[in-house]
Amino acid sequence: MTIIEALTIGLGLSYAAALLYASQQRYGALALLGTLVLAVLIANQASLWLAVALSVAIAAALHRSRWGQQWLTEIDAERLRLLCQHTLALSMLIAAIQYGGHLWFLEQGQTPPLPRPDVVDAFLPVAGGLGLRGAMETGQLDQHHPAAMVMLALVLLTGLLLKRAFCGWVCPLGLAGDYLHRLGNRLFPAHRGVPLWLDWPLRMIKYLLASALVYLVVVALPAAALPGYLKSSYHIMADVKMAQFFVAPGPLTVAAMSILILASMWRRQAFCRYLCPYGALMGLLSLLSPMKIQRQPNRCLNHSKGLACDKCSRACPAGIAVHQQRRIHSDECQACLRCVSACPKRAQALALTLANQRPVEATSLFALLVVTLLLLPLVAQLFGLWHSNTDPMIRMQLMQMLDRLGMS
Ligand code: SF4
Ligand code: SF4
Repeated sequence: MTIIEALTIGLGLSYAAALLYASQQRYGALALLGTLVLAVLIANQASLWLAVALSVAIAAALHRSRWGQQWLTEIDAERLRLLCQHTLALSMLIAAIQYGGHLWFLEQGQTPPLPRPDVVDAFLPVAGGLGLRGAMETGQLDQHHPAAMVMLALVLLTGLLLKRAFCGWVCPLGLAGDYLHRLGNRLFPAHRGVPLWLDWPLRMIKYLLASALVYLVVVALPAAALPGYLKSSYHIMADVKMAQFFVAPGPLTVAAMSILILASMWRRQAFCRYLCPYGALMGLLSLLSPMKIQRQPNRCLNHSKGLACDKCSRACPAGIAVHQQRRIHSDECQACLRCVSACPKRAQALALTLANQRPVEATSLFALLVVTLLLLPLVAQLFGLWHSNTDPMIRMQLMQMLDRLGMS
């Protein structure tokens, strides 16, 4: 595990445990910390020990300072979400830079001084899906991109349990979409967004892309060919092929990216809403999630006081008419809690609730996300399901013939 991966896990889990402790959920905090300490003891890796030492030092410093106390006891749902999204985006950016440097050394035929962060495999949904299929059909684990398999399974699990909280709290593409849309609002203040008659067909595109992804994973490759594919040169270099797509884009890619950037400036989170196949799969799974945004009409200013309030709907990045519904079942809901934060304090008519109406606090949602996306990969690593076993020398040789590598 690289230092940036270990630091993200150590800091994320320690902060989640401290938040739970500060909000009186002490058993949850102790269970989280206990599991982290046990996993670090078993793994016994220098990067993890360093991450834990740093987390303890930061926690101690935060505990003493007034500023630190504010980040534990006075943080609201929106600040917590933004903290989570920005921190993970920064972590991914550092991992991407390290990965870029690693590839540069391989391309020069030199041994890279820094290892390859396995978390980059999270961007290989097809490799992850084929790895999962291989594990289920043959019992053999993918030796080259096990992290792709783990991350795909965990992201889909978040959809099933926590709705599309991955989109609202974690995904750096969603964050980039928010910033692009803000920029669009400044540059084109008079734009009117996407008309409703066009919005629905556009939303279906991501389901078509998700179907294509499922087809590629489940149908396109015959069962007999799967073990061979998982050992193939193309599969070994799937991450580099993906990186090449962004680092050395062709004219078609540049045109598509430009349209995407303009679309994101025009429509909030256009990529997430219209194109992301991950979002489509999570959206479908989220229909089964026990968590939903619930509005209490007797508290809502619309109904109880007859006021024309629609603050929740205006805050919603998914364009859901929250103020007109009792329980939000939409596949677009990201459990981002922006509607809850926007609801006036005197009303407090909105909450994320379980099927039995029990409210789920932002700290609990954050802790569940952190457990799924940070603690479980650490546990996966203990079982040899994270680190790629590909020999760097083989990758170095394959780098020289990258353009000739194909799927067949
Ligand atoms: S309904 Fe609320 S939680 Fe769901 S996407 Fe809209 S603002 Fe976020
Ligand atoms: S913001 Fe709150 S009070 Fe206003 S419409 Fe939404 S739920 Fe009702």
